[in-house]
Amino acid sequence: MRYQRSSALFQSALKFIPGGVNSPVRAFKAVGGSPVFVQKAKGAYLYDVDGNQLIDYISSWGPMILGHAFEPVLEAVKDRADRGTSYGMPTELETQIAELVVQMVPNIDKVRMVNSGTEACMSSVRLARGYTGREKIIKFAGCYHGHSDAFLIQAGSGATTFGSPNSPGVTQGTAMDTLLAQFNDLESVSLHFEKHPEKIAAIIIEPVAGNMGCIPPKAGFVEGLRKFCDEYQSLLIFDEVMTGFRLAKGGAQEALGVKADIMTYGKVLGGGLPVGAFAARKEIMDHLAPDGPVYQAGTLSGNPLAMAAGFAMLTHLNDHADIFERLKIKTKVLADGMAGEIDKKGIPYQINQYGSMLSLHFTEKQVVNFETAALGNNDRFKQYFQGMLDRGVYLPPSAFESCFLNDALSEEDIDFTLSALENWLNSL
Ligand SMILES: *Cc1c(COP(=O)(O)O)cnc(C)c1O
Repeated sequence: MRYQRSSALFQSALKFIPGGVNSPVRAFKAVGGSPVFVQKAKGAYLYDVDGNQLIDYISSWGPMILGHAFEPVLEAVKDRADRGTSYGMPTELETQIAELVVQMVPNIDKVRMVNSGTEACMSSVRLARGYTGREKIIKFAGCYHGHSDAFLIQAGSGATTFGSPNSPGVTQGTAMDTLLAQFNDLESVSLHFEKHPEKIAAIIIEPVAGNMGCIPPKAGFVEGLRKFCDEYQSLLIFDEVMTGFRLAKGGAQEALGVKADIMTYGKVLGGGLPVGAFAARKEIMDHLAPDGPVYQAGTLSGNPLAMAAGFAMLTHLNDHADIFERLKIKTKVLADGMAGEIDKKGIPYQINQYGSMLSLHFTEKQVVNFETAALGNNDRFKQYFQGMLDRGVYLPPSAFESCFLNDALSEEDIDFTLSALENWLNSL
Protein backbone atom coordinates (compact mmCIF):
# COMPACT_ATOMS: atom_id res chain seq x y z
CA MET A 1 0.00 0.00 0.00
CA ARG A 2 1.05 3.58 -0.54
CA TYR A 3 1.21 6.29 2.08
CA GLN A 4 2.70 9.30 0.22
CA ARG A 5 -0.11 11.67 1.01
CA SER A 6 -0.28 10.64 4.67
CA SER A 7 3.44 11.15 4.86
CA ALA A 8 3.21 14.65 3.35
CA LEU A 9 0.34 15.61 5.66
CA PHE A 10 2.33 14.42 8.65
CA GLN A 11 5.27 16.61 7.61
CA SER A 12 2.95 19.65 7.53
CA ALA A 13 1.37 18.70 10.85
CA LEU A 14 4.81 18.52 12.49
CA LYS A 15 5.27 22.24 11.85
CA PHE A 16 2.24 23.35 13.84
CA ILE A 17 1.29 20.51 16.20
CA PRO A 18 3.69 19.04 18.79
CA GLY A 19 4.83 15.73 17.34
CA GLY A 20 2.28 16.25 14.56
CA VAL A 21 -0.53 14.72 16.63
CA ASN A 22 -3.00 15.64 19.34
CA SER A 23 -2.45 12.45 21.33
CA PRO A 24 0.98 10.78 21.51
CA VAL A 25 0.25 7.16 20.51
CA ARG A 26 -1.02 8.36 17.14
CA ALA A 27 2.51 9.43 16.19
CA PHE A 28 3.70 5.84 15.44
CA LYS A 29 6.86 6.33 17.50
CA ALA A 30 6.69 2.74 18.75
CA VAL A 31 6.29 1.18 15.31
CA GLY A 32 8.13 3.60 13.05
CA GLY A 33 6.98 5.16 9.80
CA SER A 34 4.43 7.88 9.29
CA PRO A 35 0.92 7.86 10.79
CA VAL A 36 -1.98 7.10 8.49
CA PHE A 37 -4.23 10.13 7.90
CA VAL A 38 -7.91 9.28 7.69
CA GLN A 39 -10.25 10.58 5.04
CA LYS A 40 -13.39 8.86 6.30
CA ALA A 41 -14.61 5.70 7.98
CA LYS A 42 -17.67 3.50 7.57
CA GLY A 43 -18.57 0.28 9.35
CA ALA A 44 -15.47 -1.83 9.93
CA TYR A 45 -13.28 0.17 7.54
CA LEU A 46 -11.03 3.17 7.51
CA TYR A 47 -10.36 4.98 4.23
CA ASP A 48 -7.13 6.95 4.24
CA VAL A 49 -6.02 9.98 2.25
CA ASP A 50 -4.04 7.77 -0.18
CA GLY A 51 -7.14 5.79 -1.15
CA ASN A 52 -6.33 2.67 0.92
CA GLN A 53 -9.09 0.72 2.64
CA LEU A 54 -8.07 -0.69 6.04
CA ILE A 55 -9.86 -3.05 8.41
CA ASP A 56 -9.99 -1.18 11.70
CA TYR A 57 -9.07 -2.96 14.94
CA ILE A 58 -8.86 0.10 17.19
CA SER A 59 -12.40 1.45 16.77
CA SER A 60 -11.21 4.92 17.82
CA TRP A 61 -9.63 3.21 20.88
CA GLY A 62 -12.96 1.74 21.85
CA PRO A 63 -15.90 4.09 21.21
CA MET A 64 -16.96 2.76 17.81
CA ILE A 65 -18.27 -0.54 19.13
CA LEU A 66 -21.04 -0.54 16.52
CA GLY A 67 -18.65 0.32 13.68
CA HIS A 68 -17.99 3.74 12.16
CA ALA A 69 -20.65 6.22 11.08
CA PHE A 70 -23.44 4.18 12.64
CA GLU A 71 -26.65 5.66 11.20
CA PRO A 72 -28.80 6.12 14.34
CA VAL A 73 -25.93 7.96 16.06
CA LEU A 74 -25.32 10.17 13.02
CA GLU A 75 -29.02 10.98 12.75
CA ALA A 76 -29.22 11.94 16.43
CA VAL A 77 -26.22 14.28 16.13
CA LYS A 78 -27.50 15.95 12.95
CA ASP A 79 -30.94 16.44 14.43
CA ARG A 80 -29.48 18.02 17.58
CA ALA A 81 -27.01 20.23 15.70
CA ASP A 82 -29.87 22.01 13.95
CA ARG A 83 -31.11 23.16 17.37
CA GLY A 84 -27.82 24.71 18.52
CA THR A 85 -24.65 23.09 19.76
CA SER A 86 -24.24 24.29 23.35
CA TYR A 87 -26.30 26.29 25.86
CA GLY A 88 -24.63 25.98 29.26
CA MET A 89 -28.14 25.21 30.55
CA PRO A 90 -29.89 21.94 31.37
CA THR A 91 -31.61 19.83 28.73
CA GLU A 92 -34.02 16.91 29.10
CA LEU A 93 -31.59 14.77 27.14
CA GLU A 94 -29.13 14.80 30.07
CA THR A 95 -31.70 13.20 32.36
CA GLN A 96 -32.64 10.66 29.70
CA ILE A 97 -29.07 9.43 29.24
CA ALA A 98 -28.39 9.48 33.00
CA GLU A 99 -31.51 7.39 33.63
CA LEU A 100 -30.45 4.91 30.96
CA VAL A 101 -26.93 4.62 32.40
CA VAL A 102 -28.36 3.98 35.88
CA GLN A 103 -30.66 1.34 34.39
CA MET A 104 -27.85 -0.46 32.53
CA VAL A 105 -25.14 -0.35 35.21
CA PRO A 106 -25.33 -2.15 38.59
CA ASN A 107 -24.81 -0.39 41.90
CA ILE A 108 -25.16 3.27 40.86
CA ASP A 109 -27.89 5.82 41.59
CA LYS A 110 -26.52 8.97 40.00
CA VAL A 111 -24.13 9.92 37.24
CA ARG A 112 -22.20 13.12 36.44
CA MET A 113 -21.17 13.79 32.84
CA VAL A 114 -17.76 15.25 31.94
CA ASN A 115 -15.84 15.61 28.67
CA SER A 116 -13.22 12.86 28.79
CA GLY A 117 -12.12 9.72 30.59
CA THR A 118 -9.28 11.72 32.12
CA GLU A 119 -11.72 14.13 33.74
CA ALA A 120 -13.88 11.26 34.95
CA CYS A 121 -10.96 9.51 36.68
CA MET A 122 -9.53 12.71 38.12
CA SER A 123 -12.92 13.69 39.56
CA SER A 124 -13.65 10.19 40.87
CA VAL A 125 -10.48 10.30 42.97
CA ARG A 126 -11.33 13.75 44.31
CA LEU A 127 -14.78 12.47 45.24
CA ALA A 128 -13.29 9.39 46.95
CA ARG A 129 -10.90 11.62 48.91
CA GLY A 130 -13.69 14.02 49.87
CA TYR A 131 -15.96 11.16 50.90
CA THR A 132 -13.38 9.27 52.99
CA GLY A 133 -11.38 12.24 54.25
CA ARG A 134 -8.20 10.37 53.24
CA GLU A 135 -5.46 11.31 50.80
CA LYS A 136 -3.68 8.30 49.37
CA ILE A 137 -4.74 6.12 46.43
CA ILE A 138 -3.48 2.79 45.16
CA LYS A 139 -3.01 2.33 41.43
CA PHE A 140 -1.51 -0.53 39.44
CA ALA A 141 1.60 -0.41 37.30
CA GLY A 142 0.59 -0.32 33.64
CA CYS A 143 -2.98 0.82 34.26
CA TYR A 144 -3.90 4.08 32.54
CA HIS A 145 -6.47 6.42 34.04
CA GLY A 146 -5.96 9.44 31.83
CA HIS A 147 -3.24 12.05 32.01
CA SER A 148 -3.98 13.87 35.24
CA ASP A 149 -0.98 14.19 37.58
CA ALA A 150 -1.85 11.56 40.20
CA PHE A 151 -2.06 8.83 37.55
CA LEU A 152 1.19 9.42 35.67
CA ILE A 153 3.03 7.03 37.92
CA GLN A 154 3.83 3.99 35.80
CA ALA A 155 0.83 4.59 33.61
CA GLY A 156 0.37 2.24 30.68
CA SER A 157 -0.59 3.18 27.12
CA GLY A 158 1.31 6.10 25.53
CA ALA A 159 3.04 6.94 28.80
CA THR A 160 4.72 3.55 28.64
CA THR A 161 5.24 3.46 24.92
CA PHE A 162 7.47 6.50 25.24
CA GLY A 163 9.38 5.36 28.27
CA SER A 164 8.46 8.32 30.47
CA PRO A 165 6.38 6.64 33.14
CA ASN A 166 7.03 9.38 35.66
CA SER A 167 6.34 12.49 33.63
CA PRO A 168 8.21 15.74 34.30
CA GLY A 169 5.71 18.26 35.63
CA VAL A 170 4.24 15.87 38.17
CA THR A 171 5.26 17.06 41.64
CA GLN A 172 6.94 14.93 44.27
CA GLY A 173 4.02 15.63 46.59
CA THR A 174 1.48 14.26 44.14
CA ALA A 175 3.58 11.17 43.46
CA MET A 176 3.80 10.47 47.19
CA ASP A 177 0.05 10.06 47.47
CA THR A 178 -0.11 7.51 44.66
CA LEU A 179 0.86 4.07 45.95
CA LEU A 180 1.87 1.61 43.28
CA ALA A 181 0.85 -2.05 43.25
CA GLN A 182 1.20 -4.89 40.72
CA PHE A 183 -1.78 -6.10 38.69
CA ASN A 184 -2.91 -9.62 39.63
CA ASP A 185 -0.88 -9.48 42.85
CA LEU A 186 -2.93 -9.05 46.04
CA GLU A 187 0.19 -9.24 48.20
CA SER A 188 1.47 -5.97 46.68
CA VAL A 189 -1.84 -4.33 47.67
CA SER A 190 -1.92 -5.77 51.14
CA LEU A 191 1.51 -4.27 51.95
CA HIS A 192 0.13 -0.76 51.37
CA PHE A 193 -2.90 -1.32 53.58
CA GLU A 194 -0.71 -2.69 56.35
CA LYS A 195 1.52 0.35 56.16
CA HIS A 196 -1.26 2.95 55.81
CA PRO A 197 -4.39 1.34 57.28
CA GLU A 198 -6.29 4.63 57.70
CA LYS A 199 -4.86 6.74 54.90
CA ILE A 200 -6.04 5.05 51.70
CA ALA A 201 -9.07 6.74 50.12
CA ALA A 202 -9.40 4.37 47.18
CA ILE A 203 -8.01 1.69 44.94
CA ILE A 204 -8.39 2.64 41.28
CA ILE A 205 -8.10 -0.10 38.69
CA GLU A 206 -8.94 -1.08 35.14
CA PRO A 207 -10.83 -4.25 36.10
CA VAL A 208 -9.79 -5.78 32.78
CA ALA A 209 -6.61 -3.92 31.88
CA GLY A 210 -6.50 -2.54 28.36
CA ASN A 211 -3.56 -0.17 28.43
CA MET A 212 -0.68 -2.66 28.69
CA GLY A 213 -2.23 -4.81 26.02
CA CYS A 214 -5.25 -6.69 27.29
CA ILE A 215 -4.73 -8.30 30.68
CA PRO A 216 -7.67 -10.03 32.35
CA PRO A 217 -7.75 -10.30 36.15
CA LYS A 218 -6.88 -13.71 37.60
CA ALA A 219 -9.61 -15.53 39.50
CA GLY A 220 -10.05 -13.95 42.93
CA PHE A 221 -7.95 -10.85 42.24
CA VAL A 222 -10.72 -8.26 41.88
CA GLU A 223 -12.71 -10.03 44.63
CA GLY A 224 -9.65 -9.64 46.86
CA LEU A 225 -9.52 -5.89 46.17
CA ARG A 226 -13.19 -5.65 47.13
CA LYS A 227 -12.39 -7.36 50.45
CA PHE A 228 -9.49 -5.02 51.24
CA CYS A 229 -11.69 -1.99 50.56
CA ASP A 230 -14.44 -3.32 52.82
CA GLU A 231 -11.98 -4.17 55.58
CA TYR A 232 -10.17 -0.80 55.52
CA GLN A 233 -13.18 1.39 54.60
CA SER A 234 -11.60 2.48 51.35
CA LEU A 235 -13.52 2.89 48.10
CA LEU A 236 -13.03 0.66 45.08
CA ILE A 237 -12.97 2.64 41.84
CA PHE A 238 -13.47 0.69 38.63
CA ASP A 239 -12.10 2.67 35.73
CA GLU A 240 -14.52 1.41 33.13
CA VAL A 241 -13.61 3.98 30.48
CA MET A 242 -12.57 1.03 28.27
CA THR A 243 -14.73 -1.79 29.63
CA GLY A 244 -17.95 0.15 30.25
CA PHE A 245 -20.70 -0.67 27.74
CA ARG A 246 -18.13 -2.88 25.96
CA LEU A 247 -17.85 -6.08 28.01
CA ALA A 248 -21.54 -6.11 28.94
CA LYS A 249 -24.41 -3.68 29.50
CA GLY A 250 -23.15 -3.30 33.04
CA GLY A 251 -19.48 -3.32 32.02
CA ALA A 252 -16.83 -5.16 34.02
CA GLN A 253 -18.96 -5.07 37.18
CA GLU A 254 -21.45 -7.31 35.40
CA ALA A 255 -18.89 -9.37 33.47
CA LEU A 256 -16.77 -10.11 36.55
CA GLY A 257 -19.61 -10.19 39.05
CA VAL A 258 -17.90 -7.75 41.42
CA LYS A 259 -19.35 -4.43 42.56
CA ALA A 260 -17.22 -1.33 42.88
CA ASP A 261 -18.09 1.93 44.66
CA ILE A 262 -17.33 4.50 41.99
CA MET A 263 -17.30 3.79 38.27
CA THR A 264 -15.78 5.94 35.55
CA TYR A 265 -16.89 5.86 31.92
CA GLY A 266 -15.94 7.37 28.58
CA LYS A 267 -15.26 6.02 25.09
CA VAL A 268 -18.38 3.96 24.13
CA LEU A 269 -20.56 6.20 26.33
CA GLY A 270 -19.98 9.17 24.01
CA GLY A 271 -20.75 7.33 20.79
CA GLY A 272 -17.63 8.90 19.25
CA LEU A 273 -18.04 12.37 20.74
CA PRO A 274 -15.97 13.63 23.69
CA VAL A 275 -17.73 12.32 26.79
CA GLY A 276 -16.73 10.91 30.16
CA ALA A 277 -18.76 10.21 33.28
CA PHE A 278 -18.45 9.02 36.84
CA ALA A 279 -21.16 7.35 38.85
CA ALA A 280 -21.82 5.89 42.29
CA ARG A 281 -24.49 5.20 44.86
CA LYS A 282 -26.45 8.18 46.17
CA GLU A 283 -24.62 8.50 49.48
CA ILE A 284 -21.32 8.96 47.65
CA MET A 285 -22.62 11.20 44.84
CA ASP A 286 -24.33 13.45 47.41
CA HIS A 287 -20.85 14.72 48.34
CA LEU A 288 -20.51 16.33 44.92
CA ALA A 289 -21.27 20.02 44.20
CA PRO A 290 -23.84 21.52 44.19
CA ASP A 291 -25.27 19.05 46.75
CA GLY A 292 -22.01 18.59 48.64
CA PRO A 293 -18.60 20.20 49.12
CA VAL A 294 -16.52 18.26 46.54
CA TYR A 295 -16.19 20.64 43.61
CA GLN A 296 -16.42 19.60 39.98
CA ALA A 297 -17.76 21.46 36.94
CA GLY A 298 -17.60 21.83 33.15
CA THR A 299 -18.70 24.44 30.59
CA LEU A 300 -19.38 21.81 27.94
CA SER A 301 -20.32 18.93 30.27
CA GLY A 302 -23.53 17.27 29.12
CA ASN A 303 -23.13 18.95 25.75
CA PRO A 304 -26.27 18.31 23.66
CA LEU A 305 -24.46 16.89 20.59
CA ALA A 306 -22.39 14.56 22.76
CA MET A 307 -25.41 13.48 24.81
CA ALA A 308 -27.43 12.86 21.64
CA ALA A 309 -24.68 10.61 20.25
CA GLY A 310 -24.25 8.81 23.55
CA PHE A 311 -27.96 8.33 24.08
CA ALA A 312 -28.41 6.86 20.60
CA MET A 313 -25.44 4.55 21.18
CA LEU A 314 -26.56 3.32 24.61
CA THR A 315 -30.17 2.92 23.50
CA HIS A 316 -29.02 0.66 20.69
CA LEU A 317 -26.78 -1.39 23.00
CA ASN A 318 -29.52 -1.64 25.61
CA ASP A 319 -32.01 -2.89 23.00
CA HIS A 320 -29.52 -5.29 21.37
CA ALA A 321 -27.60 -6.77 24.27
CA ASP A 322 -26.74 -9.86 22.17
CA ILE A 323 -24.02 -7.66 20.62
CA PHE A 324 -21.71 -8.25 23.60
CA GLU A 325 -21.84 -12.04 23.27
CA ARG A 326 -21.52 -11.83 19.48
CA LEU A 327 -18.45 -9.62 19.78
CA LYS A 328 -16.89 -11.96 22.30
CA ILE A 329 -17.35 -14.95 19.98
CA LYS A 330 -15.97 -13.00 17.02
CA THR A 331 -12.93 -12.03 19.07
CA LYS A 332 -12.40 -15.62 20.21
CA VAL A 333 -12.52 -16.81 16.59
CA LEU A 334 -9.88 -14.23 15.68
CA ALA A 335 -7.72 -15.13 18.70
CA ASP A 336 -7.88 -18.86 17.95
CA GLY A 337 -7.16 -18.25 14.27
CA MET A 338 -4.15 -16.09 15.10
CA ALA A 339 -2.82 -18.70 17.50
CA GLY A 340 -3.18 -21.36 14.81
CA GLU A 341 -1.22 -19.31 12.29
CA ILE A 342 1.59 -18.33 14.67
CA ASP A 343 1.90 -21.88 16.06
CA LYS A 344 2.80 -23.08 12.57
CA LYS A 345 5.87 -20.82 12.66
CA GLY A 346 7.07 -21.63 16.16
CA ILE A 347 7.47 -17.96 17.12
CA PRO A 348 7.04 -17.34 20.88
CA TYR A 349 3.85 -15.41 21.58
CA GLN A 350 1.00 -14.83 24.03
CA ILE A 351 -2.52 -13.90 23.06
CA ASN A 352 -4.66 -12.34 25.77
CA GLN A 353 -8.36 -11.98 25.16
CA TYR A 354 -11.32 -10.89 27.22
CA GLY A 355 -14.67 -10.11 25.58
CA SER A 356 -13.98 -7.90 22.56
CA MET A 357 -10.48 -6.93 23.73
CA LEU A 358 -7.43 -8.77 22.42
CA SER A 359 -3.66 -8.37 22.37
CA LEU A 360 -0.72 -10.24 20.95
CA HIS A 361 2.62 -10.17 22.78
CA PHE A 362 5.76 -11.68 21.29
CA THR A 363 7.06 -13.31 24.45
CA GLU A 364 7.33 -16.78 25.97
CA LYS A 365 6.10 -15.81 29.40
CA GLN A 366 2.42 -15.47 30.24
CA VAL A 367 1.45 -11.78 30.28
CA VAL A 368 -0.27 -11.10 33.61
CA ASN A 369 0.99 -7.64 34.62
CA PHE A 370 3.05 -4.70 33.46
CA GLU A 371 6.38 -6.41 34.05
CA THR A 372 5.52 -9.42 31.90
CA ALA A 373 3.91 -7.21 29.23
CA ALA A 374 7.17 -5.28 28.97
CA LEU A 375 9.11 -8.47 28.10
CA GLY A 376 7.63 -8.53 24.60
CA ASN A 377 9.93 -8.39 21.58
CA ASN A 378 9.46 -4.86 20.30
CA ASP A 379 11.22 -5.34 16.96
CA ARG A 380 8.95 -8.27 16.19
CA PHE A 381 5.91 -6.19 17.12
CA LYS A 382 7.02 -3.39 14.78
CA GLN A 383 7.40 -5.87 11.91
CA TYR A 384 4.00 -7.32 12.72
CA PHE A 385 2.30 -3.93 12.83
CA GLN A 386 3.87 -2.77 9.55
CA GLY A 387 3.32 -6.15 7.91
CA MET A 388 -0.37 -6.11 8.73
CA LEU A 389 -0.74 -2.46 7.72
CA ASP A 390 0.82 -3.27 4.33
CA ARG A 391 -1.81 -5.96 3.95
CA GLY A 392 -4.75 -3.69 4.80
CA VAL A 393 -5.20 -4.33 8.52
CA TYR A 394 -4.97 -1.43 10.98
CA LEU A 395 -3.81 -2.52 14.46
CA PRO A 396 -3.05 -0.40 17.52
CA PRO A 397 0.41 1.09 16.87
CA SER A 398 1.91 -0.13 20.16
CA ALA A 399 2.27 -3.46 21.92
CA PHE A 400 0.94 -1.74 25.06
CA GLU A 401 -2.48 -1.23 23.47
CA SER A 402 -5.35 -3.61 23.04
CA CYS A 403 -7.35 -4.31 19.87
CA PHE A 404 -11.03 -3.39 20.14
CA LEU A 405 -13.39 -5.26 17.88
CA ASN A 406 -16.61 -3.74 16.60
CA ASP A 407 -19.95 -5.16 15.58
CA ALA A 408 -19.49 -4.16 11.93
CA LEU A 409 -16.60 -6.63 11.42
CA SER A 410 -17.79 -9.55 9.31
CA GLU A 411 -16.62 -13.15 9.15
CA GLU A 412 -14.97 -12.25 5.84
CA ASP A 413 -13.06 -9.44 7.55
CA ILE A 414 -11.77 -11.88 10.17
CA ASP A 415 -10.78 -14.35 7.42
CA PHE A 416 -9.06 -11.56 5.52
CA THR A 417 -7.16 -10.62 8.69
CA LEU A 418 -6.04 -14.21 9.29
CA SER A 419 -4.88 -14.54 5.67
CA ALA A 420 -2.93 -11.31 6.05
CA LEU A 421 -1.31 -12.71 9.18
CA GLU A 422 -0.44 -15.98 7.43
CA ASN A 423 0.97 -14.07 4.50
CA TRP A 424 3.08 -11.86 6.76
CA LEU A 425 4.36 -14.86 8.75
CA ASN A 426 5.37 -16.57 5.49
CA SER A 427 7.32 -13.48 4.48
CA LEU A 428 9.60 -13.69 7.54
C1 LIG B 1 -8.86 6.02 27.46
C2 LIG B 1 -8.82 5.78 28.91
C3 LIG B 1 -8.84 6.83 29.84
C4 LIG B 1 -8.73 8.27 29.42
O1 LIG B 1 -9.81 8.70 28.67
P1 LIG B 1 -9.63 9.99 27.73
O2 LIG B 1 -11.00 10.22 27.18
O3 LIG B 1 -8.60 9.63 26.72
O4 LIG B 1 -9.19 11.10 28.61
C5 LIG B 1 -8.92 6.52 31.17
N1 LIG B 1 -8.97 5.25 31.58
C6 LIG B 1 -8.96 4.21 30.73
C7 LIG B 1 -9.06 2.83 31.25
C8 LIG B 1 -8.85 4.44 29.37
O5 LIG B 1 -8.79 3.42 28.53
